[in-house]
Amino acid sequence: MYRFLLLFLVLYVSCIEQKPEPIMEIQKNKKVVIAHRGASGYLPEHTLPAKAMAYDMGADYLEQDIVLSKDNVPIVIHDIHLETVTDVVKIFPDRKRKDGKFYVIDFTFSELKQLNVSERFNPETAKAVFPNRFPLFASTFKLHSLQEEIELIQGLNKSTGKNIGIYPEIKDPEFHQKEGKDISEIVLKILNDYGYKTKKDNCILQCFDVKELKRIRNEFKSELFLVQLMEFEEEEKLEEIATYADGIGPWYQQIIKGKDENGKWKISDLVENAHKLNLKVHAYTFRADQLEDFETFEELLQVALYEANIDGVFTDFPDKAVNFINKKD
Ligand code: CA
Repeated sequence: MYRFLLLFLVLYVSCIEQKPEPIMEIQKNKKVVIAHRGASGYLPEHTLPAKAMAYDMGADYLEQDIVLSKDNVPIVIHDIHLETVTDVVKIFPDRKRKDGKFYVIDFTFSELKQLNVSERFNPETAKAVFPNRFPLFASTFKLHSLQEEIELIQGLNKSTGKNIGIYPEIKDPEFHQKEGKDISEIVLKILNDYGYKTKKDNCILQCFDVKELKRIRNEFKSELFLVQLMEFEEEEKLEEIATYADGIGPWYQQIIKGKDENGKWKISDLVENAHKLNLKVHAYTFRADQLEDFETFEELLQVALYEANIDGVFTDFPDKAVNFINKKD
């Protein structure tokens, strides 16, 4: 009798805890918008406000670049050094290495929390990289951990009823290895603890390092959706990539190769070849204030998403990409 009661209870609890229909599967055939470092066209990159803004703009995924602190806390920051987006030079002037750089990995999490975060700038000239964006060192922004960001996103998923995904990137695993740290092991453990375990859990894990992404699949036996970020030399290796990854993340100029003599955009066969191998293609980085040869941001999005047929864009302007895709669908 007790046994039945227990069985009933276990079944009951597992029923009420069942998650809503996973969005990951549904989105497989929809163009996705990945907020590149958050809504970084409007607020300093990788700050929690930039993530909250991107969330509200309707991005499907929010991106996290990850670098470890001295005490092994995964910090959401793009570079392995600090002087391009923080006031570290002012707060800890003596903590630079011989190369003149201030490394995230040389600071504890509580030290990193003392820094102020700014819109990206060139530390040599103290000039903003994107002059029309948020002013340098205005207001107050802080660095945060991967856990803090996941809690923000999962918290918003709860309070809004949406299911927005995370898109973490393991930064420079070889550098971390040289510093005696296994960044993938630490990040995978945290993802697992927060419920990101399989391809249905709305997490896409990305890395430029081929060896490391293979290791994540084969040694760590990760069942997450994996994206191999690509530099030019990886272009020939699609078949190999398809053995361990679910998608590729090329630079869009690996796909759109300028115009032909009739003024038509030339599209490489990378997307077509990737699709034949069942690999999704999420290209980077779409910036409304850095159009290269395009007349408008809409033209760039049109050519990439609907002529080259990529599956998703990493963009600093998630609102514009979301609006564009919504108008097309
Ligand atoms: Ca990234």
